[in-house]
Amino acid sequence: MSEPGEPIRAGIRSPVPILMYHAVESAPRPPAYKHFYVLAREFAWQMRALKRAGYTAVTFAQLADALFGHSPLPARPILLTFDDGYLDIKANVHPLLRELGFPYTVFLAAGKVGTTNDWVISEGYQPTPLLGWRDILEMQADGGVSFQAHTLSHPHLTRLSSEDVRRELGDSKTLLEQTLQTRADVLCYPYGNVNDSVMEQAREAGYRLAVTTQTGRVRASDDPLRLPRLSVIHVPPFSATYGVGALNFWWRVHWWKDARL
Ligand SMILES: [Zn+2]
Repeated sequence: MSEPGEPIRAGIRSPVPILMYHAVESAPRPPAYKHFYVLAREFAWQMRALKRAGYTAVTFAQLADALFGHSPLPARPILLTFDDGYLDIKANVHPLLRELGFPYTVFLAAGKVGTTNDWVISEGYQPTPLLGWRDILEMQADGGVSFQAHTLSHPHLTRLSSEDVRRELGDSKTLLEQTLQTRADVLCYPYGNVNDSVMEQAREAGYRLAVTTQTGRVRASDDPLRLPRLSVIHVPPFSATYGVGALNFWWRVHWWKDARL
C-alpha cells in the first residue's frame, strides 16, 4: 500500500537493471575502443547466460506500466538497450534476441541514420557505420525491437540553446514516429548529458521515459525522465583490469554499486 499523495508504483518490486550496449562487433578493436562495443561471441554468451539465469527481457512500455503503477513486471526483469544504432546490430544482435525471445530497444540519432557516428571524430576515434532506414524498417517488420530517440545530431544537450534543444528532442521524435509509424516516447540523452531544464523540455516534447548513463538500477522512486543504466563494455575472457570477462558481466548486472546511493 502506498501512502496518500505518494505515486503508486507497485509494479516495481525490486530494482530493475537496464543494460546499455553500443556496437556488437565480429572482430576485436584496439583497447581504446573498449567502451564502444562488445564482441558478438561475448554478447551471445551474456544473453544465453541471462536466459539460463531466468531473466525476462521487458520493453520500455512494460517498464512504464510498472513505474506508473498499472501492472507488475515479471520475475527477474531486465531491459536491453543499444545506443546510436550501429549497423552490426542487425547481424549480431537481432537474430539472437529474436531466437531468445528477448525484446530490445535501439536509440537512434535520427539525423545520422544511414551515415556514421561522426561525432566521435573530434575525440580522435574512427567513425563506425550506422543502420539505414531500410535496415531499421526490416528489423521493425520482423519484430522484437523498438527504435527510440537519441536526438537528431547527438549533441551535448546542456550546451545548446533552449530552441536547439527543442528541435533536437521534438524533430527527432517526429521523424521517428512518421517514418516508423510507431510511438517514440523514450529518450536517451547523448553522453547522459542532462540537467533540469533539458529534462523539462523532454517532458514538454512528449517523452514518458528517458535514460541516462548514470550507473544504477531503476527503483520505484526514480524520476521516469532520469533512469539509470548499467554499461556493458568489451572485456576479454581474462583481463588485468577487469578480471575474468564472464564474472565482470555478472558483477555489472548484480553487484555494481548504485552511483546514486
Ligand atoms: Zn550515443
